[in-house]
Amino acid sequence: MSEPLLTVERLNAFYGDAQALFDVDLTLARGELLALIGANGAGKSTLLKCLTGLVKNRTGTIRFKGEDLIPVPAFEITARGIALVPEGRRLFPSLSVEENLLLGGKVARPGAWSLEAIYDLFPILKEKRKSPSTLLSGGQQQMVAIGRGLMSNPDILLLDELSLGLAPVVIKDIYDLLPKIAGNGLSVILVEQDVSRALGVADRFMCMLEGKVKLEGRPDAFGREEITNAYFGT
Ligand code: ATP
Repeated sequence: MSEPLLTVERLNAFYGDAQALFDVDLTLARGELLALIGANGAGKSTLLKCLTGLVKNRTGTIRFKGEDLIPVPAFEITARGIALVPEGRRLFPSLSVEENLLLGGKVARPGAWSLEAIYDLFPILKEKRKSPSTLLSGGQQQMVAIGRGLMSNPDILLLDELSLGLAPVVIKDIYDLLPKIAGNGLSVILVEQDVSRALGVADRFMCMLEGKVKLEGRPDAFGREEITNAYFGT
């Protein structure tokens, strides 16, 4: 069997004296969609920040395409092939939709995602391409954030709190497009509060509690009660 795209072993992370992750192991195959679930404070965002070099105080191993990511600075991570769609979108408010998307393409990696491909995926963004990003609805802003991440043609797209603050109808639209985004060689780690929805699309899930991995596997391998117990630590 070939080596996974990403392998994390015994990852520990710290904020000052406080430890946020405890011996976390994770693997991700090419094209796989992994849902990362867990209650507030479980360590999901910290794990994503470790992968993108934003939390530097960490020990353990992060291997991506056979290379050690631990010494790689945050600004180089996108160029290596990992793109983060951050919680709260973080668009540049003074820039238009198209300018925000083009910024994501500054890190020129070869691949199928282009401005036109993003507009095919989210046609509303083509209509609004000249609008300041602040004039868009929350759902449309999330589309821009996803598009900006895809513009770098990553191997892994990290989606932090994909549905947070969005209307249910918009969440459904975005989830319906996820299979078009994941697969074809692109792997996704999806951090999500909406457990049912995340488990509905994921190939595999990992449930965290208090900085540790409590349960992982294929969503259909566990009953609802087992997952709920892992989630709440009951
Ligand atoms: P949420 O869904 O609330 O974002 P999470 O699962 O993403 O939760 P993290 O944000 O990774 O959890 O938090 C994990 C732990 O690290 C928590 O105990 C949190 O209080 C702590 N923590 C997170 N960010 C910081 C920080 N900047 N400084 C100190 N402690 C932090």
